[in-house]
Amino acid sequence: MHELAIAQSIVQLAEQNARENQAQEIEELELEIGSLAGVEIASLEFALQCAVKDTMLNNARIIRHDIRAEGRCGDCETRFFVDTLFSPCPRCGSYAVNILHGKELRIKSIIVK
Ligand SMILES: [Zn+2]
Repeated sequence: MHELAIAQSIVQLAEQNARENQAQEIEELELEIGSLAGVEIASLEFALQCAVKDTMLNNARIIRHDIRAEGRCGDCETRFFVDTLFSPCPRCGSYAVNILHGKELRIKSIIVK
């Protein structure tokens, strides 16, 4: 399962960060997940619940920020929300769309004890 691997690497990164800060436990973890990140949120949530067991994140509060993907048309500069990587510009129909954000999958912040 793709999401389990992602959850495990999130946990690893968070633990590594906590250790670098001489922390024993992670209190809160904030994640940013773009709508084009290619993960299924429900699966990731479930995978995270499994992945945090017996780690520094065991009792951590996990806050998820879902980011709706946005693109800008390379031809007419219109900014719009995109549902897929191949959405055309709603104004001029161009496919020369630059994705501004929405592909991110990252740890936004970690609060340690
Ligand atoms: Zn356009």
